[in-house]
Amino acid sequence: MNYVGNFILTHSAILSFTEKSLCATIGAMSIYSETNQKQRIYFNSGDTLSYDFRMKNLKALKEALKNNEERILNALQLDLGKSPFEGYATELGIVYEEIGWLEKHLRKLMRPTRAKTPITQFYSRSYILHEPMGTVLIMSPWNYPLQLTMVPLAGAIAGGNTAVVKPSRYSKNTSSVMIDILKSAFHEKYIAAFDGGHETNTALLAERWDMIFFTGSPNVGRIVHQAANEHLTPCILELGGKSPVIIDSSADIPLTARRIAWRKFLNAGQTCVAPDYILAEKSIIPSLIDSLESEIEKMFSSNPLSSEDLPKIINEKHFQRLRGLMEDANVIYGGKSNENERRISPAIIYPASWNNRIMQEEIFGPLLPILEIEGIDEAIETVRSHEKPLALYIFSRKKENIRKVLSSLSFGGGCVNDTVVHLTAPELPFGGIGNSGMGCYHGRRSFEAFTHDKAIMDKSLLLDLPVRYAPFKGKLRLLKMLMR
Ligand code: NAD
Repeated sequence: MNYVGNFILTHSAILSFTEKSLCATIGAMSIYSETNQKQRIYFNSGDTLSYDFRMKNLKALKEALKNNEERILNALQLDLGKSPFEGYATELGIVYEEIGWLEKHLRKLMRPTRAKTPITQFYSRSYILHEPMGTVLIMSPWNYPLQLTMVPLAGAIAGGNTAVVKPSRYSKNTSSVMIDILKSAFHEKYIAAFDGGHETNTALLAERWDMIFFTGSPNVGRIVHQAANEHLTPCILELGGKSPVIIDSSADIPLTARRIAWRKFLNAGQTCVAPDYILAEKSIIPSLIDSLESEIEKMFSSNPLSSEDLPKIINEKHFQRLRGLMEDANVIYGGKSNENERRISPAIIYPASWNNRIMQEEIFGPLLPILEIEGIDEAIETVRSHEKPLALYIFSRKKENIRKVLSSLSFGGGCVNDTVVHLTAPELPFGGIGNSGMGCYHGRRSFEAFTHDKAIMDKSLLLDLPVRYAPFKGKLRLLKMLMR
């Protein structure tokens, strides 16, 4: 029997005991405790472990989404004003690709990995079992509500876990469609989803999980980390922050402007890896501004507030926050707003300074400040003196400048001469560092995020070298030969 098979049998054998004891305690629990316990029992049954089960449920997830595409795209339009094209390109399409990647590689990912055994442990076999974390909690934000819930969930399924999902209340239409879809497609003992605000979040975080996967702001990330600390629960935190774009004087300015504008104003700037601000060499700033303006007009016309392709701000609170960020800023282009529709036209702010309110928090909206730098060294010093960003982008034709930036600065991930697209490659890990997060996912890393690498050394019974046992007298020379 293979290792996975052994693991399943062991789990089934202990189920009868744990099921009885856990069922006895369920009694008058909250819905969250009850679901947590039911999922624990189900996980211990071993049902979620086999390749067939995981595969079947990855397919079930994809099918449930396919059957509800229209509802999902409508909900995204209601919550964020995303056009069906944008909804598909940045949410559904990405989830399908991730599920497809996991389906294709699942068998190989689940296989134990062989590892070398040191000569001192002759004769044994070493290998790593990729065991599921267990019962996991996934909490997601509102900006890409579908993608940031379903991509981690696909990883949890591929990893052989049970999962409780808690989407954001702000994206209420999409969250409600997702909860409905998950409830119809899966039994709650395997995958459950809850609606709710602060009380629900707090109650869920009070439960004991085998792993928490959280996507959201650094501030709430701290709360989640503290809650996880109570049980030393492993956490993946996918957070945010201010992601800079560095542009030197050698950059191809029209192309740079197009590649920045394209992703900065996607989802009205409400993207965790959107360029937050630009650090540009002074000599190129006038042509950069001209090119940015012309790109904005190409994408959204000269009256962006009337464009169907400009998404809206998620709610009144964020709309007013963004308007507030413009109060002490020098807006030289755009920045007009329509309060009824919660739309803000793409704005360029120049010159911006770190004293402006806009530079003191993650913008998360269609406002683009530009700061002057003397050269690459100043850009490096500036970025270094702030929190480690989730993403960083450098536009340059000078290899030396690119090398310097990539080797001197710590950040989650990024692009050379482009923005945001690093997250579309399943082979690239996606995650932050320090204030912008811990851990990563996508593709193989999603499987790794939701599994634990259990190290096993399987020792032969045929040979038992006496050198390792006391008395040690006269054995040091041999030990020194073996352990050099
Ligand atoms: P948020 O931190 O306010 O909320 C995220 C989730 O946490 C939501 O489900 C919310 O209901 C829950 N939550 C809110 N307050 C809570 C509390 N006190 N206790 C427990 N749970 C709580 O983030 P948001 O406003 O939904 O999203 C925007 C932030 O998320 C930005 O900082 C952005 O950069 C970041 N983000 C990061 C990524 C990434 O992949 N790294 C992706 C999208 C968004």
